[in-house]
Amino acid sequence: MATVTASHLVSTVCQVNSHGADTKAANLICMKNQAAITHNGLRFLNMLDRLQTRTNAKAVARQAVKQDNPRPWGKIICGKGLNLVFVGAECGPWSKTGGLGDVLGGLPPAMAANGHRVMTVSPRYDQYMDAWDTSVLVEVKVGDKIETARFFHCYKRGVDRVFVDHPMFLEKVWGKTGSKIYGPNAGVDYKDNQLRFSLLCQAALEAPKVLNLNSNRYFSGPYGEDVIFIANDWHTGLLPCYLKSMYQSRGIYMNAKVAFCIHNIAYQGRFPFSDFSVLNLPDRFKSSFDFFDGYETIDAAHAGILESDKVLTVSPYYAQELISGEDKGVELDNIIRKTGITGIVNGMDVQEWNPATDQHINVQYDASTVMDVKPILKESLQAEMGLHCDRNVLVVGFIGRLEEQKGSDVLAEAIPRFIGENCQIVILGTGKKAMEEQIENLETQYPDKARGIANFNVPLAHKIIAGSDFILIPSRFEPCGLIQLHAMRYGTVPIVASTGGLVDTVKEGFTGFQMGAFNVK
Ligand code: ADP
Repeated sequence: MATVTASHLVSTVCQVNSHGADTKAANLICMKNQAAITHNGLRFLNMLDRLQTRTNAKAVARQAVKQDNPRPWGKIICGKGLNLVFVGAECGPWSKTGGLGDVLGGLPPAMAANGHRVMTVSPRYDQYMDAWDTSVLVEVKVGDKIETARFFHCYKRGVDRVFVDHPMFLEKVWGKTGSKIYGPNAGVDYKDNQLRFSLLCQAALEAPKVLNLNSNRYFSGPYGEDVIFIANDWHTGLLPCYLKSMYQSRGIYMNAKVAFCIHNIAYQGRFPFSDFSVLNLPDRFKSSFDFFDGYETIDAAHAGILESDKVLTVSPYYAQELISGEDKGVELDNIIRKTGITGIVNGMDVQEWNPATDQHINVQYDASTVMDVKPILKESLQAEMGLHCDRNVLVVGFIGRLEEQKGSDVLAEAIPRFIGENCQIVILGTGKKAMEEQIENLETQYPDKARGIANFNVPLAHKIIAGSDFILIPSRFEPCGLIQLHAMRYGTVPIVASTGGLVDTVKEGFTGFQMGAFNVK
């Protein structure tokens, strides 16, 4: 059987013109090529069709099993369904800079499928096409002003997606400013982030009471007061404080609980101590925010940890690292040792990251077709990157925020040591300007071997995961990491630093490789 290569996917008749032939000759060659390409194209389609049929056959079989054993969506299988309210600064796919957005996007539908009633509350940073104005308004005190926030809503995959609309989110982030979720540039925060996220927390506490949601046939009306809030990272550290000071002190939400989940302890929301007054909290909360780092500082993650009912993090190994000392616990190790912490390893969104249905890749595949399809996707990636198409060249991928945490700087410096081998490297990331320039320069330094794309590009992330042989994750620390999970699901081998959730998820020598003693310092 003829080998199918990705060059079939990229050959176009019009390439003839770019060879500079005169028009008549070009037309002739074009016609000749058209015949050849049609012929090749058909062979290629047949081959791909066969691969696709093999991939689909399993899905059809799975569907048939499902139909024989119907488990209607929403059936409660865990005894008692809970009312869960996830609150976060990001919620994929509407807003995402990394794993926080992925988790708020993927975990809630999984919880809903287990019979819980689930809502997410996150900011409305853009005019999301699929979320509608509920016309429900709430007034909350932010700093010394009364602000009106509006709720937008959509219902997807069993989850009520609630978006808090206020100029502090919408105008700042996309609007005309073209800036980012947390600040005007990567690594720079908006000066009023403590106020922006104070608004988010207060709106999130109102949402279960005021939104009359009837999207689902198992539940109706407001969620009410019997809820569990899952607060995520420092942006929601104020939530348990407001719950106690504004509601429970008045007999509201008496059964409500808060779980505070640490996705990355490196981000804590530290502000000058004088800012405590703009949070509108009673003085008795001062000690929960009080953080001594040589300056007078308040720390929102510190308060979230101390005021919540339960502290969680995204992997068991990271939980151990957090309490191991000042370095990995970023000076919150002492209070986490007191409260205790449970590490639950992150999952991935198996609907978004499914090679059998992924619309971002040219050919879908599963375990039965992976060996045939991956070389095609590798060549397709090489072609898209403008690299020489050759399935025998090893392709190494890297995707991630360009920050010291992810070790992209070390990777860029290590490239000269291995680039002489029969390999190519593709790096996708956004972040610090200097690091973006560092990866963009790779193409000039190694035109035949390396590409660095400083862009946030979800389709390309899928193509790199599917088309690479190896995915490198040389992080200095990594609370869980999702990229290695995506890689393993796509038959791509992760090579990871031995830190955090990478230790929990990549089984050395079986599902990938650990760097162990070669860890980045
Ligand atoms: P972190 O949360 O620390 O950024 P994770 O590994 O938990 O890291 O999650 C990163 C997520 O963000 C993954 O889904 C990854 O594909 C995505 N991602 C990171 N950088 C980019 C980028 N430049 N373009 C597209 N997706 C990206």
